[in-house]
Amino acid sequence: MSRLQDKVAIVTGGARGIGAAAVELFHQEGAKVVIADIQDALGQALADRLRGGGTDDSITYIHCDVSKEDDVARLVDATVARYGKLDVMYCNAGISDGRPGSILDATREQLDRMIGVNLVGAFLGAKHAARVMIPMKRGGGGGSVLFTASACTAIGGLGSHCYAMTKYGIVGLARNLASELGRHGVRVNCVSPSGVVTTGVGGGGRVKSEAEVAEVGNLKGRNLTVDDVARAALFLASDEARYVSGVNLLVDGGFSTVNPSMLNAMQIG
Ligand code: NAD
Repeated sequence: MSRLQDKVAIVTGGARGIGAAAVELFHQEGAKVVIADIQDALGQALADRLRGGGTDDSITYIHCDVSKEDDVARLVDATVARYGKLDVMYCNAGISDGRPGSILDATREQLDRMIGVNLVGAFLGAKHAARVMIPMKRGGGGGSVLFTASACTAIGGLGSHCYAMTKYGIVGLARNLASELGRHGVRVNCVSPSGVVTTGVGGGGRVKSEAEVAEVGNLKGRNLTVDDVARAALFLASDEARYVSGVNLLVDGGFSTVNPSMLNAMQIG
């Protein structure tokens, strides 16, 4: 039995990077998946590739700007109209503004932009998912709302102030929602990766290269990949995590838990 058999999942920011890896894995594990993004060509191409040239309707691309409530409402309604329900809402879409910088250089516009996508997107995704998941309880179903936060929610200085504010906000939203939605059998969790080299958030800003990530990583022998993050998301999305809610699952190889600076200074290991 596949791990998401008969489930219906939406992945926002699903056209590339971590989201695309989750789309592929969720689909492979038996879910009907809706890719939601603003990069229509990429999202449609991914859907076409996973459909393998066939005509099955197990995967769909829908244009959705997560910062716009009409788009998010339409996304959820179209998903339910097509597949009859929504089991997993993975609010993953996000933007970054590069490496950590000084508060003196941070601008109000930067903050508004970051909040507009990362935080408002998470809020709207959760709100409209809850709108259709709460009634599912009567049918015996639960639901899983997932967010991609960041390891910057566990250790200071990993992201810019504006980025970190939005990611801490997402963890706060997830914990608060876990309280309300728990009454309806809906679980709410976060996955929080450290630096993974992707085309966008990582590759475009904070993380330069595989070599840079390997150098700073705690868990030697491999670097974090988008697939590793997708696997953590799969666990939280699936019934294997059926009693897991309110968790911020760090996917960072222990990076935010350990502090190797003293060992390095003593030249141990
Ligand atoms: P990415 O840029 O490769 O992918 C992000 C996707 O989100 C893109 O397809 C993009 O088109 C989409 N998107 C952006 N704005 C959108 C909007 N308004 N509406 C809908 N879609 C939108 O980045 P990624 O590295 O895969 O990041 C995915 C998530 O993981 C983000 O929330 C990011 O903050 C988080 N994250 C990434 C890293 C990393 O190192 N890559 C680390 C921690 C957290």
